[in-house]
Amino acid sequence: MSNISEMFGTLVFNDTVMRERLPRETYKALCQAIRVGKRLDLAVANVVANAMKDWAIEHGATHFTHWFQPLTGITAEKHDSFITPTDGGQVIMEFSGKELIQGESDASSFPSGGLRATFEARGYTAWDPTSYAFLKDGVLCIPTAFCSYGGEALDMKTPLLRSMEAINKQTMRILRLFGNTEVVSVKTTVGPEQEYFLVDREIYERRPDLIYTGRTLFGAKPPKGQEMDDHYFGVIKPRVAAFMKELDEQLWKLGILAKTEHNEAAPAQHELAPIFTTTNISTDHNQLTMEMMQKLAKKHDLVCLLHEKPFAGVNGSGKHNNWSLSTDTGVNLLNPGETPAENAQFLLFLAAVIKAVDDYQDLLRISVASAGNDHRLGGGEAPPAVVSMFLGDELNAILDSIKNDTPYGAKEKELLKVGVHVLPRFPKDSTDRNRTSPFAFTGNKFEFRMLGSSASIADCNTVLNTAVAESLRVFADELEAAMDFESALHNLIRKTIGEHDRIIFNGNGYGEEWIREAESRGLINLKTTPDCLPYLLKEKNVALFAQHKVFSETELRSRCEIMQENYCKTVHIEALTAIEMARRDILPAVSRTAADLAAASLTKSEIGLDGTYETETAKEISSLTARMYRDVKALEDAVLVPATITDMEARSLYYKDTVLPLMQAIREAGDRLETITPADAWPFPTYGEMLFGVR
Ligand code: ADP
Ligand code: MG
Repeated sequence: MSNISEMFGTLVFNDTVMRERLPRETYKALCQAIRVGKRLDLAVANVVANAMKDWAIEHGATHFTHWFQPLTGITAEKHDSFITPTDGGQVIMEFSGKELIQGESDASSFPSGGLRATFEARGYTAWDPTSYAFLKDGVLCIPTAFCSYGGEALDMKTPLLRSMEAINKQTMRILRLFGNTEVVSVKTTVGPEQEYFLVDREIYERRPDLIYTGRTLFGAKPPKGQEMDDHYFGVIKPRVAAFMKELDEQLWKLGILAKTEHNEAAPAQHELAPIFTTTNISTDHNQLTMEMMQKLAKKHDLVCLLHEKPFAGVNGSGKHNNWSLSTDTGVNLLNPGETPAENAQFLLFLAAVIKAVDDYQDLLRISVASAGNDHRLGGGEAPPAVVSMFLGDELNAILDSIKNDTPYGAKEKELLKVGVHVLPRFPKDSTDRNRTSPFAFTGNKFEFRMLGSSASIADCNTVLNTAVAESLRVFADELEAAMDFESALHNLIRKTIGEHDRIIFNGNGYGEEWIREAESRGLINLKTTPDCLPYLLKEKNVALFAQHKVFSETELRSRCEIMQENYCKTVHIEALTAIEMARRDILPAVSRTAADLAAASLTKSEIGLDGTYETETAKEISSLTARMYRDVKALEDAVLVPATITDMEARSLYYKDTVLPLMQAIREAGDRLETITPADAWPFPTYGEMLFGVR
């Protein structure tokens, strides 16, 4: 298929297909259920299921699966075939409404963070009809949420959907206050920019660290890194271009709006950005995109690395989460309007986001926390671990004049009164220059830049939606009770800016000075995952999620435990891999090399030749070898300790404070050894081969 518009969405049971294949009444009932978020009744579901099955079989499918996103961070599926036996020893292909709406799944092998003990081991998956069913490898995939029988969320999607409901409810209250009676619902929209690395498959397969942990645990800096800036937006190599072309086509067939593909800052690093869509769909699409990237890379003899920091000293990979609010009538609520009333509304939403980001900095930080992302945040390549907001000069000047009751701009001598003035348009260029801010206003949306490349976008959007819903709830409560809406609005915006402007920072977010200033402003700096996770259970956070019915306290405790457990497991596997690489490959190789050099040095001195190189290198290798061996033994002891620490917080801190530093010490010795060991004696491909190996 050469025509993109013909290809687009061919693997999706989308609105067009539904309209074509469903009886009118069924189609209407389904649309209604989707619009108001109601469950389908079984009679309707039966008709939909049957049409889906026929469509899927026509496209070569034999199986169906409830496709869901457990807390492992990847997607899960269990395939069932459509076959049903008949009396005559034959089979027919069947798919019932019941099978479409709800599936059973053994929850016991998925992380549940203690929920399993309290609740039944079985879980169920429930269809999310707002995200279309699609075909993947001959399987009809039905996007679902995954819960325990007690109703506890065991996945990423359920809380996300709840948070979208929460922000919808509160936004509608605000819109009604502004006299809007047309809008029926509001959804958040997201466009995630996905960064990734591509390395040659044959080279990858000789790196146990990449295979087991997704990142390199050893590797000396190559002579050339990214300092020439010649990769960013550079010409795409033919092999990579072929991969990108096929990736685009696959994604288009799946109805994913893949838009831009380009090279990123680091060598071998690339980015894919889709056109934004509704948050839950965007979440599904991003998971599918990551899956397709990994699958198709293999086909091209490449490996796609989604880890946040595959290579030390080289830019890591993030995922910018572009976020906004959109009405069902197609209005972006973060677009500054044309009239004073629209602008007042815009300023109120802006104030809501400012308050949300300030009040729930800790939650935003937690929503991007992972062992992988810890290597990236604050490393001078990605935003620091301190959350702050960038609004741009123009918007800042406006907020200042509102806050201080001073005239706005040099020309204007008047005071800026919300609801009376028309704000200037914010040209994208004036707002998008700052690339170092964790949370930047970019003209008509916010870009949250702390997210790591491998993470699901569900968590950070759950937090963002809920925190903004809370600001809007407080605002709506106040404004609904006001006698004079206009002045209450003005005062509310003014007060909110005054209370929360410490979160606004327009300078260089990568600088040390900012970290000091941030601390003096009282902003929190939670450097690592073990540092930030305990904040999840702070009273104000438990109250927030309970208020908006996004997480119960039990669910929140289980999430915290799962995140702590994931962190520990990740570092544990890394430590074991480092030990294995050192013990079985590096130490034996350098020991042989030192012995060879020592022997050569002896031979040389016997016949009166200068053996300085051999002697000195043998000495340096030997002393580094001894140092590395000592640290490896210390690490071997250290990895036995966590199992004896029952408190998860203490355990995660042990990994951070004891295990990681030992790994770092081993790496430092290893990287120096790599630079002085003869190339043919070094057991692993180098950074140079990994980063510049794809031609
Ligand atoms: P860049 O940040 O590279 O300059 P853009 O700002 O055009 O590029 O877009 C970045 C991402 O933001 C894209 O995925 C785009 O679809 C998304 N985006 C644009 N508008 C919105 C919006 N209203 N809501 C959510 N995402 C959006
Ligand atoms: Mg961007």
